[in-house]
Amino acid sequence: MGRPGYLTPPIFAVLAAIGYVYYTTVFVAVAGWLGLTTAAGVANAAAFTALTAACLATYAAAASRDPGRVPPAYLPDVEDAEIPVHEVKRKGGDLRYCQKCGHYKPPRAHHCRVCKRCVLKMDHHCIWINNCVGHENYKIFLVFVSYAVLACFYSMILIVGSFLHSAPKAEQLGGDSSKTSIIICGIILCPLTLALSVLLAWHIYLILQNKTTIEYHEGVRAMWLAEKGGDLYHHPYDLGVYENLTSVLGRRIFCWLCPVSTNTGNGLRFRALHDIPLSTPPCDLQKIALHSQ
Ligand SMILES: [Zn+2]
Ligand SMILES: [Zn+2]
Repeated sequence: MGRPGYLTPPIFAVLAAIGYVYYTTVFVAVAGWLGLTTAAGVANAAAFTALTAACLATYAAAASRDPGRVPPAYLPDVEDAEIPVHEVKRKGGDLRYCQKCGHYKPPRAHHCRVCKRCVLKMDHHCIWINNCVGHENYKIFLVFVSYAVLACFYSMILIVGSFLHSAPKAEQLGGDSSKTSIIICGIILCPLTLALSVLLAWHIYLILQNKTTIEYHEGVRAMWLAEKGGDLYHHPYDLGVYENLTSVLGRRIFCWLCPVSTNTGNGLRFRALHDIPLSTPPCDLQKIALHSQ
């Protein structure tokens, strides 16, 4: 596995899949079904080309953008009354410190073993972009997945349309080779569309609760521990659906799918619910507060 910034086999696989699906959709499916000289054919080819270009641009940005570094001089502000105690301390009351990087960890930051450094508001390390998904590239990653899902569905429509159209007159399409290309494209697209749609739905679910993937897994454990102790738990960064959405996607709804970074904040501190009783002992899952009933 190469370090971030290197071209790895999964990146080549993604680029090859995009190239193959694009070529087959435009030059086999659209060309055979609508023709590349008709208005409908040109419009569909142009729209699909634009969507593919958007996919490639956002993919490159997600893969190359730094997910968020901890500043070398970072010190957690334990005196700041606005930062709940559980955000900066771990079980036992010690400040969160990364032994490998030799610095304190801001809230929601984690050490990535592949990137070999701490990443701000780390979500997960994605092998398909050979980069961590964190505070600085989360939105662009999400926009890429959204464009990719749209492109997959669009391609499926064009491929199915072309396949149905070509059935009675296969000769006009160039015969068996065109059909084979379309079938292979369909075989690539089906699992790809399913996987990307599930990934997109999963991240929409997480954003609605203002959780990262890591925090989701920690939360499941915290919920189990809380229920065992007869408590309820609340994710401290869950500020309500609208606030959660805008904190990731930006204030302007029309820009939610724009490939621009709309981060609010520097990734070193985050708004959290402040109604957490300070008497609550710091939890080993530093982001999870326990509410006693
Ligand atoms: Zn670290
Ligand atoms: Zn990483």
